Amino acid sequence: MFRSILLGLVIGFVLTQIANGATTIYLHRALAHRAITVRPGLALLFRVVIWFTTGIRPRQWAAVHRKHHAFTDTDDDPHSPLQLGWLRVQLTNVMLYRKVARDREQVVRYARDLPQTRLDRYLLDHALVGLGLMTLVLVLVLGPLAGGVAAISHVLLYLGLSGSVNAIAHTFGRRPFQNSATNLQWLAFLTAGEGLHNNHHAAPTSARFSLNPGEIDPAWLSIRVLRRLGWVRVRHDAPRFTVPRTTAQPT
Ligand SMILES: [Zn+2]
Ligand SMILES: [Zn+2]
Repeated sequence: MFRSILLGLVIGFVLTQIANGATTIYLHRALAHRAITVRPGLALLFRVVIWFTTGIRPRQWAAVHRKHHAFTDTDDDPHSPLQLGWLRVQLTNVMLYRKVARDREQVVRYARDLPQTRLDRYLLDHALVGLGLMTLVLVLVLGPLAGGVAAISHVLLYLGLSGSVNAIAHTFGRRPFQNSATNLQWLAFLTAGEGLHNNHHAAPTSARFSLNPGEIDPAWLSIRVLRRLGWVRVRHDAPRFTVPRTTAQPT
């Protein structure tokens, strides 16, 4: 029994890392900010992975996130710890997300370039089918206990880490650039680079989030491999900053 639980936790963690990679590379950097362009075959793979591991509708995610950038840490930010307190954002992030994601008018306004496709309508917009299928596959492959633990631990960890990017990475950590987000390398390791959030708010169209000496952005390493394979195009290599640095950095 102990071995089954441990196996479930390990598989759950791996699934979360796969979901985090697809979230930051496809939903965030490719769709929401157009920092990279992904070839259609790979885009379809990302869409299926997102559906299977998170149930997220890409255009809704992009809309909520673009609104966050447009109104960062103001009254209109969908999930601002400055307005709501970091613990509330950490614990209720999914509810805050859904409030905007379910508002059709706002999704159209912020994600006009991402219309619903026929594949979305018939398959990928059905979150419970994707997540149900994931759970079924896990249970069939690993058995009911390990499979159940894997599915539940993955969902909780994914929600927890997504909440952390919006809550902790707007509250605690370093601010090398002049914006309210923060950099946390430990969180970046757990979220495929998303923890370097201060950098991201400083240069939102940059495909690379590691912008200071010593920082590591795991997703950027993957994007470089995908670029070498010709599957991904990077919009621009030199980051285009929207705000200046807080302090002079050693060169
Ligand atoms: Zn942010
Ligand atoms: Zn962003």
